[in-house]
Amino acid sequence: MPLFPGTSWKRAITQLIALYLAALIAGWAIGRTWLPLALVSMGVVAWHYWRLWRLLARLAGGRRLQPARGNSVWSEMEGLLHRRQDDVRNRKRRLLDMLRAYRTAAAVLPDGVVIVDRSSQRVTWFNDAAERLLGLRYPRDNNLPVAELLRPLPVALWMTAGQHAEPMIDAPAPHDPNIRLNLRLIPYSEQQWLLVARDISKLMHLEQVRRDFVANVSHELRTPLTVIHGYLEMLDPSDMPEWTPMFDEMRRQSQRMAQIVEDLLTLSRLEAQEMLSEETVAMHSLLRTLQREGDALSQGRHRIEIEDVAGADLIGSTKELHSAFSNLVSNAVRYTPSGGSIRIRFAREIIDGVDGAVLAVHDTGYGIPAQHLPRITERFYRVSTSRSRETGGTGLGLSIVKHVLALHQARLEIQSEVGQGSVFSIHFGIARVQQRVAHGMETA
Ligand code: ADP
Repeated sequence: MPLFPGTSWKRAITQLIALYLAALIAGWAIGRTWLPLALVSMGVVAWHYWRLWRLLARLAGGRRLQPARGNSVWSEMEGLLHRRQDDVRNRKRRLLDMLRAYRTAAAVLPDGVVIVDRSSQRVTWFNDAAERLLGLRYPRDNNLPVAELLRPLPVALWMTAGQHAEPMIDAPAPHDPNIRLNLRLIPYSEQQWLLVARDISKLMHLEQVRRDFVANVSHELRTPLTVIHGYLEMLDPSDMPEWTPMFDEMRRQSQRMAQIVEDLLTLSRLEAQEMLSEETVAMHSLLRTLQREGDALSQGRHRIEIEDVAGADLIGSTKELHSAFSNLVSNAVRYTPSGGSIRIRFAREIIDGVDGAVLAVHDTGYGIPAQHLPRITERFYRVSTSRSRETGGTGLGLSIVKHVLALHQARLEIQSEVGQGSVFSIHFGIARVQQRVAHGMETA
């Protein structure tokens, strides 16, 4: 950038020098050197002050400056300021257009969007869909506490939990229980949080239709299967020995189908449940039962031991937890070759400073290749279909385990090494753990 932009500055200096020279000559001519010089100086200062005052008055009044007129320094300065004002004005207009476009896009989003100020937990903005889905009204609800507006949704708890909050919840809409919402809280800056509500009523309805369908089909299949199975049991192929293998296979398959139907019905029942009975699960006796069941299934082919070092019991449904634990034990027995050992361990644990308890089933079986682990709890997912069938598996055991655990807010962790064995661990939060009372063992 040149030191003196434009030519006006040079012109101003030249004019000033010319003026002073003229004043000097005039002073000599009249014999009073100082008088014309003083008059010129006063004139120059007065003129500059006047221009300065005019410029300040315009700027202070927020008026638009005129494009450069004349060729003085002041005209040039006003011209430059005029250009700067134009730039700022254009940038502001562009920003406003962009803001308007974003707001329009956010306003027509099918999902409800609410911007919440984190420190005050008040609503600062929301779109049209938020009015429909969350029952908010503009301007009535602007600047009101979000937790009060959306009661009984656990928004206050969410905000307090901050970054550690459960990222998503499914819940009925506060003003209309027929609308099912999927809510997400997204902390997108230190001060502002975004609450996004999606209408999942249709999805939930479809899910319900699917659940009903599976439950109804399973229910309808149960009676004919029982009849077929009953008749097969009654048939005696002793007069036709060549039919014996076929009858045996038919009995095995009908039994397998009956077991699949039972497991599907169990899954439907678990899916329909939102919560379970909250009773004390006497772990000492439950572990002994698991050992007995494992021994019965193993028929002496494995060594099964229990290790009960938690000194605590669980809180939840004894029936469902028993079913989940025995699924793991039965898998350990079925997927461990003869001579292997199985250990069922119940202990207290602290993970990342959080207290809890763990039930782990260790086996020295075939193990599971790592690529199968993420999908192993899906329905009918099997690592080896033939091995699962041979051992009487339905492919639904771990799905049942997953559902039971979800109802107990517990987590399944699987560690496995092919040829070495597997460890299936169920981690329970402290809310599910209860100190075992001394007589607990006897009553158990
Ligand atoms: P299944 O009735 O086939 O056993 P599950 O849902 O209980 O169905 O288990 C799914 C699959 O996970 C099984 O088919 C098996 O391949 C694998 N699996 C489960 N537990 C074990 C285990 N302890 N050791 C090796 N593989 C296992």
